[in-house]
Amino acid sequence: MALQIDAKGGLIVRAPYQVKERAILEFIERNQDWIDKAKKVSKDRARERKEYQPVIGGRFLFLGKEYIISETNERKIQCLEDRIRIPQNSEADKELSQWLKKQARSFLKARVKDHAARMGFGPEEIRITQARSRWGSCSGRNVISFSYRLMMCPEEVIDYVIIHELCHIPEKNHKNSFWQLVEAFDPDYKKHREWLHSHGFLMEVI
Ligand SMILES: [Zn+2]
Repeated sequence: MALQIDAKGGLIVRAPYQVKERAILEFIERNQDWIDKAKKVSKDRARERKEYQPVIGGRFLFLGKEYIISETNERKIQCLEDRIRIPQNSEADKELSQWLKKQARSFLKARVKDHAARMGFGPEEIRITQARSRWGSCSGRNVISFSYRLMMCPEEVIDYVIIHELCHIPEKNHKNSFWQLVEAFDPDYKKHREWLHSHGFLMEVI
């Protein structure tokens, strides 16, 4: 049997057809702590997703720094102090995602170059994608891809993702030897990986 909390915080229990109702109820009771915890996480994430919607007045993260989305008379997005201003009468989500893509292209390419020089191996090609399923990936022929959404993360977390993907050039797996290599270039990688886990909702907001 397995338990799952859906996006609305509801409990889903999966059980084989022949399992008796009583056994299912006992299973739920035994796992009540897990259920309570998972429901709280689901609720927090739903709240965060709502707060970070790309609308005027919403919150926006860029390089880990928090901004409030507001408007400007100018034609281009302006990122000043604690405000990110988008042109009036434009669609906030389109403006912001295009802006993030543009930032991603210059920032990530320069950063990969720096890390590759330090680490001693680099990719065949760097691509910026719209992926919602993962922050970065490395193909069999060492083409490294990053979701433009990565630009919402703090710089040290972005560095971790870059180092992670670069380490897949010599190590095409997630075995111990891979993680040792990651740790050699990012001693705090566990902290950074944890940040990504707790901010996965950012993949869905824009
Ligand atoms: Zn990996």
